[in-house]
Amino acid sequence: MKRDGDNIVTIDGPSGVGKSTVARRVADLLGFSCLDTGAMYRAVALKASGAEVDPRDSASLSRLLSKTTVELSPEGHVFLDGRDVSELIRTEAISSLSSELAELAEVREFLIGIQRKIGEGGNIVAEGRDMGTYVFPGAKHKFYLDATVAERAKRRFLQNKRGNFPISDVRDELRRRDRRDTLRAENPLHPAPDAVVIDTTRMSAEDVIAAIFLRTKNLSMHGDSN
Ligand code: C5P
Repeated sequence: MKRDGDNIVTIDGPSGVGKSTVARRVADLLGFSCLDTGAMYRAVALKASGAEVDPRDSASLSRLLSKTTVELSPEGHVFLDGRDVSELIRTEAISSLSSELAELAEVREFLIGIQRKIGEGGNIVAEGRDMGTYVFPGAKHKFYLDATVAERAKRRFLQNKRGNFPISDVRDELRRRDRRDTLRAENPLHPAPDAVVIDTTRMSAEDVIAAIFLRTKNLSMHGDSN
């Protein structure tokens, strides 16, 4: 008999480890949708940055969230209040603000409600920081990707086409985000006890995708799992 979570794959891990690339590809291989929860935190950060509210003022933040919609399209675009903001959320300023706002209970409750609603339909690869530990604890397949901060900084640096930050700055920002993600009171980042932990430091993205697909291909919607 099918249980809740049987067709949910979770992928958690720190910033810059390559979760998005891996999750999107695994979702394609399985015929599932990809739930990029980081994009949702970024969309809320974009909204807060354009609004006249102090995010630390809980009442104003709640009011702002009550007038906010965040949606993901099957193609992986993120919509804030009906507008496609997929490009606008990929700036350093939004990275940093989303990491700060992710510490706040109001923001987490708001987004987790939306994430669980999407998860009800199943057939998703959910990626973020608290997918296996908190949002989808019943998921059958849980993965936690890790890599040294030096390796993650290198990956981010190479990915950043504008290349306008020295690698030492990229490393410092990752350390700051790691600290916030692991030390926050609300759903801190750590592997779920039943997650498969993959140290990707010396692995290519293709190797990581293959390792996850091998363990999950029985879920494939494509019938042919080879
Ligand atoms: O993964 P990404 O870098 O796009 O996430 C943006 C920020 O959102 C992260 O720095 C992290 O603090 C936060 N986040 C979170 N929980 C999630 C996904 C992202 O706290 N499930």
